[in-house]
Amino acid sequence: MRFRDIIGQENVKNHLRLSVSQGRVPHAQMLFGPSGVGKLRLAVAYAQYLNCPNRTAEDSCGTCPTCLQFQNLEHPDLIFVYPIVKNDKSDTCSTYAAQFRELMLSSDYFSAEDWYKKLGVENKQGLIYENESGEILRRLSFKSFGNGYKVLIIWQPEKMNTTCANKILKILEEPPEKTVFLLVSEHPEQMLPTILSRVQQIKADRLTEADLAPYFPQDIIRISGGSYLEAMRLQAGAEERTAYFDDFVALMRRAWLVAHKRDYSALLELRKWSADMADKSVGREKQKAFLQYAQRQTRENYIRNFGEPSVVYQTDTESKFSERFSRFINDNNVEQITEEFAKAERQIEQNGNAKIIFFDLCLQMIVLIKKA
Ligand SMILES: [Zn+2]
Repeated sequence: MRFRDIIGQENVKNHLRLSVSQGRVPHAQMLFGPSGVGKLRLAVAYAQYLNCPNRTAEDSCGTCPTCLQFQNLEHPDLIFVYPIVKNDKSDTCSTYAAQFRELMLSSDYFSAEDWYKKLGVENKQGLIYENESGEILRRLSFKSFGNGYKVLIIWQPEKMNTTCANKILKILEEPPEKTVFLLVSEHPEQMLPTILSRVQQIKADRLTEADLAPYFPQDIIRISGGSYLEAMRLQAGAEERTAYFDDFVALMRRAWLVAHKRDYSALLELRKWSADMADKSVGREKQKAFLQYAQRQTRENYIRNFGEPSVVYQTDTESKFSERFSRFINDNNVEQITEEFAKAERQIEQNGNAKIIFFDLCLQMIVLIKKA
C-alpha cells in the first residue's frame, strides 16, 4: 500500500514522511482518530515506506520485491496484532492471520464489527488476550528478515488485556534495534496511561468534503461525518432503498392497471413480479425489508393526502411518484393495505412459500386499490 492510494490525510502522511527523511523514526507511535478515515491503511503504507529501498521523498516505489510483499501483506517483517474471539485457549492472532489478511485485502475500510463478522462471531467483543504478549515477544526476538524495519501494527490496542499490556511495556519502551510499534486506535481514552505515555501520538482527522467528493454524492457526504466507512454504509442503504422503491412502484402501478383498466397483461406481469420477489437469490431478509419499506410508503402516501409535506419522509423520487399515486391510498383502504404487507412479512418470517405469499399480496392489492 502506498501513501498515494490513501484518500486525504495529507498532514499525517507528511508527518510520517518527515520522520523518515530526518532519520528520526520513533520506535513507538500511535495513529488515533475516528473510525473509517484510513488509519490502518496509513500504518501499512508507512511500514512499506520505511522498508522500500527505492522510496522517494513522497512515497514507496510500489514495484520492488519488498513493496510487492508489503502490498500482499505477506512480508515477514510486517506483523499484525488485533482483537480476536478465541475458539481455543491457546489461540493467538496468528491463528486468525489468514482471515485478517483476507479482510485487509478485500476491504479498504472496515470496522471492528466487520472483523467479527468475518470471524463468524458477530455480536461478540474481541480481546487482545494475555497470551498474545508471549507471541509478540517471541516474534520480535527474531532478527528482521530484510535490512529494513520490523513493524508491529497493533489494531485496536484499547482492546488489550491489562496483563498483556503490562507484559509488553518493557519492549515497547526499549524495542530491539530497527523495530517499530504502530498502534492504531479509535479510543485512546480507553488505554492504559502507561502505554499512552510510551507512544508518540499522531491524530488522523475526519476526511473533508473535498476528499470524499469523487466517491460519494453530496447528500451522503453531508451526513457521513467525514468517514469513508460511514459514507459507504449510507450509500449501500440508498441503493437498497431505490431498489425497494422500484419494486413498490411496479406492484402498485400494475395493481392499479388491473383494477381500473382490466389490463390482463399487467396481471401476467404481476405474476412475474411475484416470482422475481420470491427468487431465492433475493433472500428472506431482503424480502422482509421490502415489505417493511412498503408499509412505510403506504403510510407516507396516506399522510400526503393531508397536505402536510413536513411530516412526509420521502426522497425526491418517491415524492414525485406519490404526487399522482397518493390519492389511491385513503381512508377506504389504508389499514387493509398496511395489514396485507405486514401479514406477508409475518408469513415470510415463518418460512412460508414466498411465491404464493407475493402473488396473494398482488391479488389483494388489486382489490384494495379498487376500493380507494
Ligand atoms: Zn519499493
